[in-house]
Amino acid sequence: MLLPTPYPVGPVWVYLLPGDPLTLVDTGPATGVAWQALRAGLAGFGVQPQDIKRVLVTHGHHDHMGLARRLQRFGAEVFAHPADRNNLALRRHFANLNGVLRRLGVSLPHRLLMMVGLWALDRTSRPLTRVSPLADGQELPSSHGPITVHHVPGHSPGHVAFELPEASVWLSGDVLLSGIVPNAVLEPDPDRPTRPFPALCVYQKTLQQLASSPPRALLPAHGPPILDVAELARETLGKQEQRSQAILRHLSREPQTVAAILAAVYPKARGLALFLAYSDVYGHLLRLERQGRVERVNWGGKEAFRKG
Ligand SMILES: [Zn+2]
Repeated sequence: MLLPTPYPVGPVWVYLLPGDPLTLVDTGPATGVAWQALRAGLAGFGVQPQDIKRVLVTHGHHDHMGLARRLQRFGAEVFAHPADRNNLALRRHFANLNGVLRRLGVSLPHRLLMMVGLWALDRTSRPLTRVSPLADGQELPSSHGPITVHHVPGHSPGHVAFELPEASVWLSGDVLLSGIVPNAVLEPDPDRPTRPFPALCVYQKTLQQLASSPPRALLPAHGPPILDVAELARETLGKQEQRSQAILRHLSREPQTVAAILAAVYPKARGLALFLAYSDVYGHLLRLERQGRVERVNWGGKEAFRKG
């Protein structure tokens, strides 16, 4: 079923898996139109919300888990990977984020606009705190055969894909999308909340694994099915490298704060778009630092980078 979302990415695919227990993979956002569309879609299969016994969440972003709590109230058991617990519970750690952004040189008005943007975004979801945990390699029972869980972190720390019984076809959320390079959203490391989760580095490992041992096909949450998984994984890795190089071109031997680099790369971004821009730029800088291509320095009390 294709459900509407209010986000630039467009509508989201959610998948109803027949058999016992009747299972829904991803839910759509917590908006009235998405709920009506989900109910209408289910009714087309002769299903009522209370018939859904299990909800599998690929990751804790709003278009994938927004309606999960509502379905939980109808009696479904909700499953997700525990590394996404902050996303699932809509725990933003605003004080921590404010501190990080200040250290990067982002001005107070821009920090406030980013946080208001995130706050507004969170109105399209409902927090999930009671979740059954998923683990890599786990097999979930179903009358049609076991569904295998694959942990594919990067786009979020706890992103998982679900392999359908005996098909080598994965319901893959946002791990790979055709025509879009999914962002590696920066957030606190779930195990060490004072540090950022090294999203882009982890994501690249996931993409390399998909390129070297690809499933037969992916059914993503946005866009058409992906039949040549290895090819698209390699293409996405290539586009991420191009992005790193584009950001590198804005750096020199003179240190620049992350805010200055951000303003050069994304001069027009504001609010939530600026948060995503920050996520993109800082993520690539951390990756370039790990590769020894840039150097992080303290520049008048602010975090700055220069060419290594
Ligand atoms: Zn997502």
